[in-house]
Amino acid sequence: MIQLTTAAKLENAIAKARTVKPRVRVNYFGSYTVENKQTGATYTVTCEKRDGKRFASCTCRAGELGRACYHLAAAVAAHIQLATEQASH
Ligand SMILES: [Zn+2]
Repeated sequence: MIQLTTAAKLENAIAKARTVKPRVRVNYFGSYTVENKQTGATYTVTCEKRDGKRFASCTCRAGELGRACYHLAAAVAAHIQLATEQASH
């Protein structure tokens, strides 16, 4: 579980997500399945808000170690887009 503070922390992960272009599926608001299309490996990314702070976690090895992986970056991008769409309704 990592706290999402500034976008800078996710910079490398976002850059990698742009290269790998993983598929992101929405399970429900806050839960995403990220698939590496090359290997077929899937991971679950969870986004949540606690005390006004945003947290995210991924089930991959890097995510379990509290690192910002590209699965997390890709899912967070989808999550933010979804949250923005919900807010505009
Ligand atoms: Zn991951």
